[in-house]
Amino acid sequence: MKTMADEVVLRIFEAKSRDVGRSIVRIPIRIMKKLGVEPGDYVEIVGRKSAYAQVWPAYPEDEDKDIIRMDGMIRQNAGVGIGDTVRVRKISLRPAQRVVLAPTEPVRVDSEYLKKQILLGKPVTRGQAIDVPFYGGSIRFVVVQVQPGPAAYVSVDTEVTVREEPVKEAELAIPRVTWEDIGDLEEAKQKIRELVELPLRHPELFKHLGIEPPKGILLYGPPGTGKTLLAKAVANEANAYFIAINGPEIMSKYYGESEAKLREIFDEAKKNAPAIIFIDEIDAIAPKREEVTGEVEKRVVAQLLTLMDGLQERGQIVVIGATNRPDAVDPALRRPGRFDREIQIPMPDKRARREILQVHTRNMPLCTSEDVKAGVCAPGDEVDLDKIAEMTHGYTGADIAALAKEAAMSALRKAVSKGLIDLDQESIPPDVLNKLKVGMGDFMEAMKF
Ligand code: ADP
Repeated sequence: MKTMADEVVLRIFEAKSRDVGRSIVRIPIRIMKKLGVEPGDYVEIVGRKSAYAQVWPAYPEDEDKDIIRMDGMIRQNAGVGIGDTVRVRKISLRPAQRVVLAPTEPVRVDSEYLKKQILLGKPVTRGQAIDVPFYGGSIRFVVVQVQPGPAAYVSVDTEVTVREEPVKEAELAIPRVTWEDIGDLEEAKQKIRELVELPLRHPELFKHLGIEPPKGILLYGPPGTGKTLLAKAVANEANAYFIAINGPEIMSKYYGESEAKLREIFDEAKKNAPAIIFIDEIDAIAPKREEVTGEVEKRVVAQLLTLMDGLQERGQIVVIGATNRPDAVDPALRRPGRFDREIQIPMPDKRARREILQVHTRNMPLCTSEDVKAGVCAPGDEVDLDKIAEMTHGYTGADIAALAKEAAMSALRKAVSKGLIDLDQESIPPDVLNKLKVGMGDFMEAMKF
């Protein structure tokens, strides 16, 4: 791609976790100079689509690289993934007169709050998705209207309307998990990107090299360690259609129709390719044949093998199987051309638990030492994630997610019982929300469950 004076081509790296959800990109200072932009200026990021963001200087260790760091939301809005290149140029945006947002699930959110806390200063464009923190989780909104178009930034004078009725989004079949939502598992992320994302996004590379991309990969490890999450993230980043099925369910719920159901799923994937078919607990569909007595099970295994062998989509459909017991999977399924790659997903160690905690508390207002000084949190209630990571030996990622949620619920219950929050109110005033924090005591409380 040609680089013009007012435009640079940069390779995409993921955002550091503190930058997630801020609508910013980070690029080296020497490149900011080349583009003539100052920190806080707006840039247009051109991938398959255009996204807009505020630009900030790169971290010092990135200064000599030609890279741009951005979070999953911006990557999705620009239709690009990590490792891709994008064109970046300066853009002078006008303040928006009017912006309309619609949620992706029915919810009522105060538009003034959304404008002041989330949108102010941010660039918006029609079709763009915005994740808004909400009780420790988040709700996705889509920008359905911007005046003047196609892009503008939200100023204090912008009239922001938040629709109650959800958008009807065809893209909802694409999950919204991004790489930053997965704590640790660096090696697994790297492998799955190489084995799945690369062929889905660039089949021409594999064709050029004369190699077949994998049709199936097997993720194995204990339940709740992030296997489904990885499959969803790779589907999202590759903009691939995602179908999840569950081994035991196929066998029982569709009993007698299991093979037909499998055929239907592969058909659906073909129609919507690029696509990922995720089969959780695959050992229930395809147990070792010597362990199987029933004719039905044998036929279902044979059907799955036939469907996998029939995949000639040049890597446009990938089947990801997950199991806790790789040895229980029919060896015929693990032959070349089938599930011939395996990725182990281990139990998290202390460092991994710290990273997973970080992910699940990212949108949570945690008590800090400043909050203690200011009297918002009780003495000793500042949250120490290292200590929690140490105390949660034996917890899976799912256990840690549940712990974080339970800690937030404990904080909420305390606030209600102290009369801080009146549940009959139409919406909770911002000054009350600002005082609602999750403390170390809440985590200790949650650990008792
Ligand atoms: P599996 O498919 O291995 O049984 P999942 O991927 O469904 O596990 O994980 C269940 C939930 O646990 C996820 O939705 C997420 O909230 C949490 N979780 C598990 N592993 C991780 C991780 N590595 N990072 C962040 N959250 C995780």
